Amino acid sequence: MMHIRDRPSFVHSAALVETEQIGVGTSVWAFTHILNGAIIGSRCNIGGQCFIEGGARIGNAVTIKNGCSVWDGVSLEDEVFVGPAVVFTNDRRPRSRAMAPSRYSTRRWISPTVVKRGATLGAGAIIVAGSTIGEFAFVAAGTVVTGNVPPYALVVGVPGRAAGWVCECAEAISFVRSRARCDACGKTYARAANSVHRS
Ligand SMILES: [Zn+2]
Repeated sequence: MMHIRDRPSFVHSAALVETEQIGVGTSVWAFTHILNGAIIGSRCNIGGQCFIEGGARIGNAVTIKNGCSVWDGVSLEDEVFVGPAVVFTNDRRPRSRAMAPSRYSTRRWISPTVVKRGATLGAGAIIVAGSTIGEFAFVAAGTVVTGNVPPYALVVGVPGRAAGWVCECAEAISFVRSRARCDACGKTYARAANSVHRS
């Protein structure tokens, strides 16, 4: 990821951007607040009424729709899509600091979340801290992700369960004898054990 210290191409006059680490060509829309220490790549589109905390890492060409908070400990790789009102978390045992002062005396309470390249998080999904969402995985709207999601997997429901596979173009694919071909774009895939890759 490039850490280009340059002016973003567009920051709405009603946005509050405190980090200098935003790549070229990124847009930030109204009433979004980005804290110092957040790292954001180039060509991103960050919708209105988002909050991005110091320590959040966002790659290149990431889309974040309106009303999302991206906390310290959350990493979004290149070309990730985050739908409206997606909820991230970064603490698996949250308490008031007054109730657990020793727990919050170091940064060990943070459980990192990683959303790998090209993945989609549907509207209103909840991503429990500590999850890794694989490349090009597709989390359906409203799903609660409670663990790792394999690359190219479709997960649906509460809690999220495997419900099939998706192409890099986001269309569903189905396997016949461990092979699949996307009807929409023609990409081909091979499935071994419980993993999928391009073939
Ligand atoms: Zn396809």
